[in-house]
Amino acid sequence: MINNRLFKIGISIVLLFVGVSCKTTTKEKEDITHQAEKKADFKYWTWITASEEMTDSAYRADFKKYKANGIDAVLINTYADAQVLTKIVPFAKEENLEVHAWMFTVNRPGDKIAEQHPEWYQVSRDGKSCYDEPPYVTYYKWLCPTREDSRSHILSLVEGLAKVEGVASVHLDYIRYSDIFLPIGLLPKYDLVQNTELPRFDFCYCDTCVAEFEKLHHKNPRDSKDPAIDMEWKNFRLNKVKSIVNEAYTIAHDNGKLLTAAVFPYPEMADHMVRQRWDKWNVDAVLPMIYNNFYNEEIDWIGYATKQGVADLKGKNTALHTGVYVPPMTPEELGLAIKMAKDNGAAGISFFDGGAITPEQLAVIKASKN
Ligand SMILES: [Zn+2]
Repeated sequence: MINNRLFKIGISIVLLFVGVSCKTTTKEKEDITHQAEKKADFKYWTWITASEEMTDSAYRADFKKYKANGIDAVLINTYADAQVLTKIVPFAKEENLEVHAWMFTVNRPGDKIAEQHPEWYQVSRDGKSCYDEPPYVTYYKWLCPTREDSRSHILSLVEGLAKVEGVASVHLDYIRYSDIFLPIGLLPKYDLVQNTELPRFDFCYCDTCVAEFEKLHHKNPRDSKDPAIDMEWKNFRLNKVKSIVNEAYTIAHDNGKLLTAAVFPYPEMADHMVRQRWDKWNVDAVLPMIYNNFYNEEIDWIGYATKQGVADLKGKNTALHTGVYVPPMTPEELGLAIKMAKDNGAAGISFFDGGAITPEQLAVIKASKN
């Protein structure tokens, strides 16, 4: 009798176990299917720059190489030239690659139209204009995001690219202010110490920005003893960048295109370093440049920053694709970087830049695709 009862209890436990185990198996199956779908959708991108020296066949050969190694999308910098892009798009399409129109947005080096208007350029707290005294490097030619004419100029370039047939998105780069703090790994190169917001690297204090801010907040940022702790002044500038993005979003969508952007690693860091708060923008996808090597960080930091960005975008219609800087990476490190992006919720990964990817790295990219 006792044995019989024990036997029955035993059977029940077994059944219970089987029941649970059946449920687990089904759930596991769902998870595996979901993961497989996610994995199949995980997009591979690369940034490339067009060049006058490139022949049509050279473009075709490059696109063929990218496609054969698992790349799904190319972000092409044509210096915002819609005609050059129109010529190149069909070559990429032949290989079934998605094309994104990559442009320098607020920083506009070599912009012949802007150069005719010295007043369009940003002015630092110590009164220097990016027109003739750019900070850090000669190609830092930042335009004022407040002045009506410089803003319209930037947005007209967005519109030109958005009208190019076959383009999936307009991709905004340098959509921020000049670095108030440089990445720590780059400071020795410029022989700089940046413990506070230095006037030389603090923008934009032009008459238009100051007048608009004064009208809103009844104080002049030029008179501030410590503008770094003036939250209205900080927020004013975050909103100036945001307003360009949101307008570009409308322009892109009106032309049947998406809006994407290359941004700093995660929102708080972007806010701190370049006055860019991308989790508050209208944008279809962000490609944070999680360049661990610039910040003296290890590969696992790619996972950390990806996870942070994905969490900050929860509930928003913005996808996140991790951007990585490949030149200093060994093939093994690149493989780990891809895994970090995948495991931490990114929808894809973008490699900077196409021309710099070595054959060994390409092999890792291809092998990781399936
Ligand atoms: Zn200004």
